[in-house]
Amino acid sequence: MRCLDRPVLRIIKVNKFKVSSEANFATSGQSRQDIKCDLLVVGGGAGGCSMAAKFASKLGKNKVVIVEPKDVHYYQPMWTLVGGGMKTLADSGRAMASVLPSDAHWVKDQVAEFSPKTNSVRTKGGDSIQYNFMLVAVGLKLDFHKIKGLEDALAKDPRVCSNYSPLYVDKTFKALQNFQGGPALFTFPNTPIKCAGAPQKVMYIFEEYLRKHGKRDAADIKYYTSLGVIFGVKKYAAVLLELCKKRGIEVTFRHNLIEVNSSASEATFENLDKPGGTLTQKYSFLHATPAMSTPEVLSKCADLVDKAGYLEVSKTNLQHVRFPNIFGIGDCTNAPTSKTAAAVAGQCGVVKKHLAAVMAGKPLPSVAYDGYTSCPLVTGYSSCILAEFDYDGQPLETLPFDQGKERWSTFFMKKTIMPQLYWHAMLNGYWEGPKLFRKAFHLGMGK
Ligand SMILES: Cc1cc2nc3c(=O)[nH]c(=O)nc-3n(C[C@H](O)[C@H](O)[C@H](O)COP(=O)(O)OP(=O)(O)OC[C@H]3O[C@@H](n4cnc5c(N)ncnc54)[C@H](O)[C@@H]3O)c2cc1C
Repeated sequence: MRCLDRPVLRIIKVNKFKVSSEANFATSGQSRQDIKCDLLVVGGGAGGCSMAAKFASKLGKNKVVIVEPKDVHYYQPMWTLVGGGMKTLADSGRAMASVLPSDAHWVKDQVAEFSPKTNSVRTKGGDSIQYNFMLVAVGLKLDFHKIKGLEDALAKDPRVCSNYSPLYVDKTFKALQNFQGGPALFTFPNTPIKCAGAPQKVMYIFEEYLRKHGKRDAADIKYYTSLGVIFGVKKYAAVLLELCKKRGIEVTFRHNLIEVNSSASEATFENLDKPGGTLTQKYSFLHATPAMSTPEVLSKCADLVDKAGYLEVSKTNLQHVRFPNIFGIGDCTNAPTSKTAAAVAGQCGVVKKHLAAVMAGKPLPSVAYDGYTSCPLVTGYSSCILAEFDYDGQPLETLPFDQGKERWSTFFMKKTIMPQLYWHAMLNGYWEGPKLFRKAFHLGMGK
């Protein structure tokens, strides 16, 4: 082990994209470390863990360093089912140590500063990490605080919940069970979010639960979305609007939740088409989806991000537009697709091939990411519309039947098959999305 006493020497190597033969972990001072690695993966969520698994087995023991602060890795897509009482929060989590690849070195900390010009990062605990290549996979953070009164309401009001956080997802089913009638509000914020379908999935589950328990007539279910459409893909939007009509759900477009007054049981929305215009609505139940943004450490690094604070990458291979030895994956990038774990899977194979080529100093392969993403729109306790589409909002359906219909089979996949695929295949670096299945099911035709 050696200390990073001559970092400049190492940077020269980096800029030639040569992979060094050893990784160094040297302690200097109290507990501070100077670490050097071939590949630094920042974030051990869906994207970081899957990609680290691919490269740790390829590059060898400790050549990959992962920085990730959390003890528990959650399969977040399960939280929709947790909110509906179909799974528990415990079902959705595994010890981080058990999912990160054993051949990688885990630094249990968070990156506090990116310095892409010197190929290094600094962690909150004071470690300095020098890398030859870096993959940024820090996801999105939840900005509950941006909605006045929401954090307070989530802490104290049993009628206010959010499937988006492990802190509050357990509240959803309790609030649903305790609901006795009145206005039930569901919101979609004024920022890009992870899984753009989740704010309405919870609503369909809620509605079916009330019907099954004889309480539906007492409820006034309302969906407030900042968007001008119910879903970004025309095919599924038409089906979902029809579903809302059929189930008596009122949809209000271009309204953004800005305040929750728990003691008055009121939610206030800004009208995005009428500057200064607001609408205040009483609630007996409120499911809030928070605004989201990239973690501050990334958004404040002007060298790495676009104007909106997202890692600025090529949409076809997720390589950074200014630093060729940096790639991104998942929710924190500005690839203009819907932010899901399914999109991460679709990105994995492309990023793996392009990053490997850059590492080897070879020309980039022709394979390109088409924006594939998927959203299993759970519509109740046994039905789902399985949306799959690309950058252009064109359906890219895997199964040989119309996935725009509510079906039990796709619900079964969402509830039973997808979690297994995630834990056993994707996080171990073996799942790159359903493209091969799609080709097989469509007899080699189509994309
Ligand atoms: C309620 C809900 C429902 C969803 N439903 C679906 C669904 O049905 N289908 C689907 O495909 N997707 C769904 N998703 C979305 C999916 O979970 C995300 O898109 C996916 O997890 C994104 O992966 P990621 O690696 O980009 O980010 P994440 O998995 O969120 O991981 C980011 C990681 O980075 C770490 N990190 C953050 N900052 C730092 C730092 N400074 N230093 C080091 N590490 C850091 C975090 O601790 C975290 O572990 C859902 C999400 C939610 C919340």
